[in-house]
Amino acid sequence: MDFDRARQILVGSFYPGIEDQLVLDAISRVPRELFVPVELQMFAYDDRPLSIGYGQTISQPYIVALMTQALELKGREKLLEVGTGSGYQSAILAELAASVYSIERIPELVEQARNLLEGLGYRNITLRVAGDDLGWKENAPYDTIIVTAAAPDVPQTLIEQLAVGGRLVIPVGSRSEQELLRIRKGKSGNKVDKLGGCRFVPLIGRDAWQD
Ligand code: SAM
Repeated sequence: MDFDRARQILVGSFYPGIEDQLVLDAISRVPRELFVPVELQMFAYDDRPLSIGYGQTISQPYIVALMTQALELKGREKLLEVGTGSGYQSAILAELAASVYSIERIPELVEQARNLLEGLGYRNITLRVAGDDLGWKENAPYDTIIVTAAAPDVPQTLIEQLAVGGRLVIPVGSRSEQELLRIRKGKSGNKVDKLGGCRFVPLIGRDAWQD
């Protein structure tokens, strides 16, 4: 299978929904086929989520693009990703931000993602197994935070880890259906944009869903 050609066709299908050329170029560079199990590689450029084991998924490419575009990255940002999963979204983010901190609650996925991302040469991604508290307070504040699992509400603890002027992109809703939100943190209040419906696996833990 010609993965390069399949990737270009997929990226072409995102326009006009995704208009940020930097995001389209980043997706054109990252080989999604390496982030899915070998037996699913033939589906790597279908625009849909795929199983990565442990009951988790690699997100749908269009949603990866939409969330990345919503972060409005300019290249200088310190960014937090909650939910490393396969590491695919981390790679896209690392193409567009200065430094990416990413946390994942399943240690085996952290190990797999670390090996893959290091092998691909990414030096601006730091991975860690998630702790009991949501996020990664030690490195806060972040210019942008992306949550790639579904939360019941916008977690206040993540707003606290965001810099003033920063953007948080997060799916919020029930365990089965959510709305993608972008929250801009202001000095005197936050502004919320609704970006459309989506379906993510649940965000688990304190300030989220119970396992
Ligand atoms: N961005 C990923 C990718 O590109 O493959 C997809 C992430 S997957 C949809 C959501 C991930 O969030 C799962 O791997 C899940 O284990 C993780 N997760 C759930 N709750 C979490 C938490 N509290 N902290 C960190 N990761 C969490």
